[in-house]
Amino acid sequence: MSKFILFQDEKKCISCRSCQVQCKVNKGLGVGPKPNQIIEVGPVEVNGRLKANYVFLSCFHCDNPWCIAACPNGAIQKREEDGVIFIDQDRCAGCKSCIMACPWSAPQWDARKGKAVKCDLCKDRIDAGLKPACVTACPTNSLRLVRTEDLPDTKRVRFVRELVAREVS
Ligand code: SF4
Ligand code: SF4
Repeated sequence: MSKFILFQDEKKCISCRSCQVQCKVNKGLGVGPKPNQIIEVGPVEVNGRLKANYVFLSCFHCDNPWCIAACPNGAIQKREEDGVIFIDQDRCAGCKSCIMACPWSAPQWDARKGKAVKCDLCKDRIDAGLKPACVTACPTNSLRLVRTEDLPDTKRVRFVRELVAREVS
């Protein structure tokens, strides 16, 4: 996992999807690809009341990424300094192997360019001392960029496990 993680406090999320929109604006994407997205989970009945959760999903910047192994062109790379996984757009041949390989379909198809695109944690903005685009757009501070080491293990593991369970259910 990278040194950073986009952490969402689900209780604060109002599903405005500003994070989705701002990500696309920042990456110059049109209709279609969503490097991050809000997934509606539910509604389910909790203590007699209906409850829905809105879960932020984007690339997990895995330790051993399936997408890197699947790319025949070496277009997907991991930054040495912080473990951020990104796509070198010049090397992407548009074969969609990464999209099929990632369990969460985090890489998305950009039909306008004929290439895959994915969350790179806004590495250019991080390098400039700025927050990722999605974080700046969130009106409720539901989203935060945190250092992975600053999240307690149990919380981090639970967070990822819950996301995976929801994705496969
Ligand atoms: S695109 Fe998928 S496989 Fe690749 S690092 Fe992100 S979550 Fe992992
Ligand atoms: S911007 Fe924040 S509140 Fe709005 S959908 Fe995204 S995480 Fe939820």
